[in-house]
Amino acid sequence: MITDKEIEKRLEEMFAQNYELLKLEGGHALTEAGQKDAFNQVLYYFRKLKEVAAKVTDTEVKLTLPDQKTPGNRSFTIEGIVDIVREDDEVWMYDIKTHDPFYVESNKHLYEKQLNVYAYIWENLRGNQLDHTAVISTVLPDALKEAAIANDGNRIQKELAHWKPVINIPYHEKNVKDTIYDFGLVVDNIEKHCFAPPPATVLDGKISGTNSKFATRICRNCDARFSCSSYREYAIKFQKGTTANFKQYYNDYGTDGEQEEFINASINLNKINIIPELPH
Ligand code: SF4
Repeated sequence: MITDKEIEKRLEEMFAQNYELLKLEGGHALTEAGQKDAFNQVLYYFRKLKEVAAKVTDTEVKLTLPDQKTPGNRSFTIEGIVDIVREDDEVWMYDIKTHDPFYVESNKHLYEKQLNVYAYIWENLRGNQLDHTAVISTVLPDALKEAAIANDGNRIQKELAHWKPVINIPYHEKNVKDTIYDFGLVVDNIEKHCFAPPPATVLDGKISGTNSKFATRICRNCDARFSCSSYREYAIKFQKGTTANFKQYYNDYGTDGEQEEFINASINLNKINIIPELPH
């Protein structure tokens, strides 16, 4: 039987292969520290959840709800991917998310909507049993990340034990119709090219369950911020309207260290793409 150590070694190889592939496909590179962070997420996720992983009976199950109609009478299909675990007499449905657990806990209603639709498809359209639905949050808690950086075995064990990545989400079938209707509204807005951003007051407010502002956590990573009216309004207010600070805010690409790491990663990526000259 394969040991945990062998599995971890294999994960390391698969991670490296996947990274090289994604880098070539997407043209984006990670710094060494970024790669280490990403691999740690995989590694500790495996260490924490290997028992659940070992029990997964159906992995990456594609669920489809076709032939839906939007309020504007447009046709659309809902698709989702989940993992299913059958244990003793019970069946669990898991949706894996890269969002942090505090955010998921504080915004359960958002996850509930999506999972309830998947549960509805699984149970009613496919005729399968379902007892529980849950989100698995793959983001490592800060304390665990710090313990990993310090390479402190005792602290890592302690933080792994504290970490609760599985968040139960209640299943209410009666909400499914409302959720499908909400999806329809989004489809109509996309088709009508209505992409209005939220008002600047939302950008200035904290995201529920976190200490971060919407503008810091979401907008700072959004390429559309340069042409976003709400972000402009927020930036002017935030910087009290001074032109110099406003420009500086718009040109915020992170700290000097972050920028240097980004440049180094891109240089390394370009090196990979150099095509060697053919011998004459
Ligand atoms: S900057 Fe991007 S994320 Fe922020 S409000 Fe505008 S469009 Fe949305």
